Amino acid sequence: MMKRRQLLTGGALGAAGLVAGCECGAPAGGAAIPGAINSRELKMVTTWPKDFPGLGTMPERVAQFITEMSGGAITVRVFAAGELVSAFESFDAVSNGAADMYHGAEYYWVGKSPGFNFFTAVPFGMTISEIMAWTEFGGGQALWDELSARFNIKPIAAGNSGHQLGGWFKKEINSLEDFRGLKMRMPGLGGEVLRRIGASAVAISGGEIYPALQSGAIDATEWVGPWNDLAFGFYQEAKYYYWPGFHEPGSQLACGINLDLWNTLTATEKSIIQGACQRANNISIAEFTHHNAIALEQLINEHGVELRQMPEDVMAALADASKTVLEETAATDDITGRIYQSFRESLIRSMDWGRISDETYMAARRKAFDL
Ligand code: CA
Repeated sequence: MMKRRQLLTGGALGAAGLVAGCECGAPAGGAAIPGAINSRELKMVTTWPKDFPGLGTMPERVAQFITEMSGGAITVRVFAAGELVSAFESFDAVSNGAADMYHGAEYYWVGKSPGFNFFTAVPFGMTISEIMAWTEFGGGQALWDELSARFNIKPIAAGNSGHQLGGWFKKEINSLEDFRGLKMRMPGLGGEVLRRIGASAVAISGGEIYPALQSGAIDATEWVGPWNDLAFGFYQEAKYYYWPGFHEPGSQLACGINLDLWNTLTATEKSIIQGACQRANNISIAEFTHHNAIALEQLINEHGVELRQMPEDVMAALADASKTVLEETAATDDITGRIYQSFRESLIRSMDWGRISDETYMAARRKAFDL
């Protein structure tokens, strides 16, 4: 066990202004010295199954980077969902100090405040670059800090699973009528939107989806995208794979750190944790983009999956219902209203810019590659 408050004296950290051998990281009664890194072991709980592609490996990466960047002074012990606490207990565990940090998706904490939805993904919301723009520059982080501080947590973006596809259906969807009474697994605000167009949305955890499809308890499901969906083998029970998704256009994942602990960290320690989260964020964007494309080819070529585009009238009805659901969510309380307002302003700015840049360019580009 490493001794807490013991200053690391490694040569690699010399530039951080350390005095070798001195116990001056956080002197009793005094302020922490900005450049110090104190030896400590942090406990990280997560909302993911152990080693699950992309999701379960992301917190392992955050932990590894923190250790590497701190020259081994800070180690992080990662607990998969259920190992220390269940997935949905992660937030409370960090809030009350039973764990030091969590890695998860903020929309799991909607029971605390619906405002948390916006920091992961909402129906017809932000893509990866748009949510990064809002978080970093559009006022998102300040509101996120304000909301999380009410629960004694400091939140940091630490991953993004990218665009999530429309999902797996046992039968073809030809019009809005086909959604009436359809039992589909979709949690959160996306599920509420489905209810508004007449579907029967159910929220079950990842591991429960396959048996529910198999038994006929559900007719359709979304999960993540080709990479993660292939891993669960949904194509064996539902052969129609629909695009695009509307419900999670770029789900941002996060680390939440106990705020009391965060406030005792030195500037260098905070920077290490933020840097580790940011690095994990970048890698996850690259790996989901890469693996989703490869898995999609496998699903079509090796497993005979039928790719279908969601009909326009369905997408239009989903957009109408989303507008209502988002506005109702925003009206829940003051802070959720302010979060939605900030989110909306940032997204509209991004859409105006995107319309004359990426959006048009990406469609036009295909011709240069004979697609
Ligand atoms: Ca999902």
